[in-house]
Amino acid sequence: MAVRIELSCMSCGHSTSEVIVPGSGRPSFRELRLAYEAEGNAGGPLWIGDQPRCPRCKGQLFMEGMERAALRRAS
Ligand SMILES: [Zn+2]
Repeated sequence: MAVRIELSCMSCGHSTSEVIVPGSGRPSFRELRLAYEAEGNAGGPLWIGDQPRCPRCKGQLFMEGMERAALRRAS
């Protein structure tokens, strides 16, 4: 199983590119980073330490896509 994750900025609304993360639950930042780096981090977040940040404004990001993934599995 895998989940499709997109990160959105709380400050400016910018969204990163989607990434597919293996697993069935909410991925850790580490798992997200590995998934983005496997794709060259193209369109991905800016990494500050272990934290993903908005590449535009360095704002905090939140995860989108978990609900959509859950809906897709249920249907
Ligand atoms: Zn931003």
